[in-house]
Amino acid sequence: MPADRPPQPPWHALPPGAVLARLEAAPGGLTATEAAARLARHGPNRLPEPPRRGALRRFLDQFRNLLIHVLLVSAAISLALGHPVDAGVILGVVVLNAIVGFIQEGRAEQALAAIRGMLAPHASVLRDGVRTDLPAEALVPGDVVLLEAGDRVPADLRILSARALRAEEAMLTGESVPADKDVAAVPEGAALGDRHSLLFSGTLVVTGQARGVVVATGAASEIGRVSTLLAEVQTLETPLIRQMDRFARQVTIAVLGLSAFAFAVALFQGWAAADAFMAVVGLAVAAIPEGLPAVLTVTLAIGVRRMAARHAIIRRLPAVETLGAVGVICSDKTGTFTRNEMEARAVLTAAGRLSIEGEGYGPVASIVTAGGGTPTAEAMTLLRRLARAGALCNDATLAPDESGGRTVLGDPMEGALLALAARAGVVPEAQRLDVIPFDSRNRWMATLHWAEDGRLLAVKGAPEALLPLCALEATDESETSLDAPRWERAAQSLAEEGFRVLALAETWLPEDASLADGTPPPLTLLGLVGLLDPPRTEAIAAVAECRAAGIRVAMITGDHPATARAIAGALGLGQTERALTGIDLDALDDAALRRAAAETDIFARTSPEQKLRLVTALQAEGGVVAMTGDGVNDAPALRRADVGVAMGRKGTEAAKEAADMVLADDNFASIAAAVREGRTVHDNLQKVIAWTLPTNGGEALVVVAAILLGIALPMTPVQILWVNMVTAVALGLTLAFEPPERDVMARPPRPPRAALLPAVLAWRVVFVSVAMAAVVFALDTWARSRGLPAEAARSLVVNAVVAMEVGYLFAVRQSRSTGFSVEGFRGTPAIWIGVGVTAAAQLAFTYLPPLQRLFGSAGLGMPEMTMVVGAGAALLLLVEAEKVLRRKA
Ligand code: ADP
Ligand code: MG
Repeated sequence: MPADRPPQPPWHALPPGAVLARLEAAPGGLTATEAAARLARHGPNRLPEPPRRGALRRFLDQFRNLLIHVLLVSAAISLALGHPVDAGVILGVVVLNAIVGFIQEGRAEQALAAIRGMLAPHASVLRDGVRTDLPAEALVPGDVVLLEAGDRVPADLRILSARALRAEEAMLTGESVPADKDVAAVPEGAALGDRHSLLFSGTLVVTGQARGVVVATGAASEIGRVSTLLAEVQTLETPLIRQMDRFARQVTIAVLGLSAFAFAVALFQGWAAADAFMAVVGLAVAAIPEGLPAVLTVTLAIGVRRMAARHAIIRRLPAVETLGAVGVICSDKTGTFTRNEMEARAVLTAAGRLSIEGEGYGPVASIVTAGGGTPTAEAMTLLRRLARAGALCNDATLAPDESGGRTVLGDPMEGALLALAARAGVVPEAQRLDVIPFDSRNRWMATLHWAEDGRLLAVKGAPEALLPLCALEATDESETSLDAPRWERAAQSLAEEGFRVLALAETWLPEDASLADGTPPPLTLLGLVGLLDPPRTEAIAAVAECRAAGIRVAMITGDHPATARAIAGALGLGQTERALTGIDLDALDDAALRRAAAETDIFARTSPEQKLRLVTALQAEGGVVAMTGDGVNDAPALRRADVGVAMGRKGTEAAKEAADMVLADDNFASIAAAVREGRTVHDNLQKVIAWTLPTNGGEALVVVAAILLGIALPMTPVQILWVNMVTAVALGLTLAFEPPERDVMARPPRPPRAALLPAVLAWRVVFVSVAMAAVVFALDTWARSRGLPAEAARSLVVNAVVAMEVGYLFAVRQSRSTGFSVEGFRGTPAIWIGVGVTAAAQLAFTYLPPLQRLFGSAGLGMPEMTMVVGAGAALLLLVEAEKVLRRKA
């Protein structure tokens, strides 16, 4: 809290003028220099960060895991039994695993933190009298902030003016019903929940508009004093990771049971207890998938990073998995499918139709009649009157951009109306007195102005919404009564041309008129404007990609059905003949809606409530639904959708917070890219599991089989530990980095409730385990038959096991196509690093005297090494052959 702030009276009890005076602020905001000075004094408007886990803590956390505990106990017993090398190798496995987990978890946390940074809130602030968009962190006491429905309040504010303002303050007051807010001062002793003249940092504006002056920022704000509330913790956990954690624990317990059994059998076979025990430790360590949970987490984190690079920012991690199963994408039209760069191309007034052709939002344009001729004076007069209303009933501004053109601050459609006014030669000068903001239910907006000779009400909105409010239409000389059917037909035909259609109207009001009652008096229609908003080229490609991937793409828009159909046609949606409107939807009961939703790709003139019903209907049909939204009212539909997608640019804070994913560029193509990455993540998770389980299984089976058959172990326990250490770290992790397979977007979505370990995979676990064990025993026999010394025979087996794991790695990389291809062998940097490290480790194991002494290994000759490579290739071939047979079957 600023030290110079007098204790009394509190902000909420002071009238706005006094608040501004005490803050040395003006209704038009601070100057940039003053703001900078205050920022230096008060610090950034940021809450203190919750304490992070320290590095040591994070490292130690890596050991909090049943799998690791089992390994540590094994190491301790090995040491007690006088096998320091075995104990050392087990510890090596544990520590390497912890280091990899530690580094990767750190990177994953960094990635998430970076994403949080990308979602940092912004605020509309008046600086030097101009509305600017600033990061909320830059706010200082005295700043004047503009807010509207859906905004998160960026700092504690004293309201300067408000209209229909309500804020949801549950986080502070526990009251879930939004509180009415107003400019009037309240008594000094009012409780927090009754301070209706204040807006509190972190609360949500649910309706209305406001202008307020910042009275407290950062830790000095009300929320700052209870800041523990705010730390939204993202854990690296998803249903799948939890499921796999559980699975890994179950495997561990099963392995312990199996080990006990194997130990008993070994004793029965006449093994010495210590030898039997060490063999069983080898078995346990080989079979426990200790690295698996960490590798899966890394795989997810990499997916999150890749999605962020494609402008899809994940807010809730489970969405990474869900994205891969999406079967229907319902997307907004304006700005998502289209560029949201609008241009007013057609104007229709009582004097006929005019075509306007210009460059961007620039002031120069050619204005011609429908026939290409020069417009009449009457047509120009009416155009100017319409353009003035469009420029008045407007919240946007045009600013020069770097390339010498103009860019819009605010709604691009309103920017297009400002450009239209400039092109028609209109410079509207009228002070704005009041406004009824646009809302997607009414579909119109009105502003009240003080113009030359009185109070002018300017209104714009969707034709169906506005025509019923009009009684007259403007002609050159005077006004005649409205021919509503003619205008409706005209609006329809403009919409069919693909234009977004807007009607404009105005009326003069008596001196004392206000907008208090919300409904405007009878209006005079000025005409229609047809705005062109071309589809994004990337969106056209993305729609095609989604459809090839078996994903249905539907358009949901507030626009006219004819406009929606025209754009849907240009985009290549599936069903562009039929469009359901909000009114149609309301007429359907739930069952009928489900049927209709399954067959319709265009939903027009819809409201947020209807979006919610739609998601529910699509889900009832069994689809995994992704739904976009931007407004405050879209939040329920976004929450309900399996993947709620909010717009990063034009979306409200409320929508972003309800969403699982935020599109940094508002672009439909980014949704498609995220689905692609989501499918890849799921593939990679499956690959990691498909590789880990059989390789562990193969190693374990060798031990179990040797014990059961009563033959000598082909590898010593410490060698099994070595193999496990080298491959689990160097090979398993590489699969997390796999790029998308060529056909990821050419196959249908995976069924939502499909098991992570489908039957095919379960079978492969058995098949590969058995194949590996069989090769091991075959090589063991071959080596003995050739009279190789025991050390060399074991070296051969160890190298062959590692080679087979490498071979199998290449087979696993391509889940559906063959790994036996140029693409399959080109690999990724990660794969080659992993294989390189493994090869180096194996050469050291085989040929370096110190390691030979430690592990009881011996150098191998050419024929043996050929057998090693052959074993790897054989397993690859075998799995590939199995894939071919499966495809044929
Ligand atoms: P979309 O889903 O395409 O974003 P909206 O709900 O924003 O649709 O708009 C629906 C209709 O409401 C538009 O076709 C237009 O006629 C009207 N409209 C949109 N924005 C405004 C605005 N700021 N002022 C007045 N009317 C608007
Ligand atoms: Mg819109």
